[in-house]
Amino acid sequence: MPTFTRSYQLAKGLKIPAVGLGTWKSKPGEVRNAVRVAIEAGYRHIDCAWAYRNEHEVGQGIKDSGIKRDDLFITSKLWNSFHKPEKVQSALEETLGNLDVGYLDLYLMHWPVAFDGQTSDGKNRIDWDLTNDVTPTWAAMEKLVDGGMVKNIGISNFTVLKTKKLLEKAKIKPAVNQIELNLHCAQLELVRHMVLTATAPPQWMQAHNIVVEAYSPLGSTGAPQLDDPVVKEIASAHGATPAQVLISWQTARGVVCLPKSVTPERIKSNFEEVELTTDEVTRLEQRAAEFGTRRTVDPSKDWGVPDLWKDEDGIAAKL
Ligand code: NDP
Repeated sequence: MPTFTRSYQLAKGLKIPAVGLGTWKSKPGEVRNAVRVAIEAGYRHIDCAWAYRNEHEVGQGIKDSGIKRDDLFITSKLWNSFHKPEKVQSALEETLGNLDVGYLDLYLMHWPVAFDGQTSDGKNRIDWDLTNDVTPTWAAMEKLVDGGMVKNIGISNFTVLKTKKLLEKAKIKPAVNQIELNLHCAQLELVRHMVLTATAPPQWMQAHNIVVEAYSPLGSTGAPQLDDPVVKEIASAHGATPAQVLISWQTARGVVCLPKSVTPERIKSNFEEVELTTDEVTRLEQRAAEFGTRRTVDPSKDWGVPDLWKDEDGIAAKL
């Protein structure tokens, strides 16, 4: 099977490779090798975050591969504790130091949530002003682009309406929105509104050219969605693995896909594309519709931000 070569155009000129290696929950001792193996297999896109506590090892894996920095697309994310205008630059500098690179291709606001220290019982205290209006932090991220430390800035875990609100004030539009997308959380309506694809009708996002990225495309730890009978049937028709079907489905939707693995054989096979037919894509969308939105990654209640996703219901009616 061919490997993924396609990329999507970002608003500011760079291209983002359609498949990138995820690095969350990649333990020390595992992720260095995983990154090297991925780059040797042809991956040119690595998805990192300060919060994953392994950027240093990811950086070592990049060095081990011998690849030129400019040939890689590296993303990292501003964690909620640094979601304050005066903390943004030093947070990025720490990330650059960890990865041992001079710039990032993409820096994301990890969540539309700002922490303000911790309470006496160890819970994160929420800075509601910055959570309700992320634009001061965004303005500090814009300065990083002006200073050349990052090529693009973007958002993660933003609903369409939160994205719209940001666009009203942003000088630099977010290049991407990275969200949970998989069979149990396909967010069909949101993707229809955000993704620029050849087949999609003109929609709101086309005017803004925001690329959507799929995190947890296999259902996260343990890849529970590989057992789905519809996915297995389509995989067997192609002589492919269920993981390849789920990853190729996201790119067929016009979405960047970020599968994580630290297992060399899986890293390699996840990077092979299955050419799904239109009927198969429709079957997967129908299957996904049966699950609705069952998030795997949802820390909102732990953080005491219960309304994080609330404006996602009935997006079409609100646009
Ligand atoms: P994934 O959906 O990518 O699943 C990862 C799990 O699937 C691991 O247990 C992995 O095991 C297993 N796996 C991978 N490939 C195969 C395969 N071919 N066959 C069987 N099992 C397989 O989960 P993630 O939640 O990690 O999401 C991917 C990436 O998205 C993250 O790593 C991170 O970079 C990003 N992310 C971003 C978030 C955000 O808030 N912006 C939130 C969550 C994720 P093993 O590693 O042992 O091979």
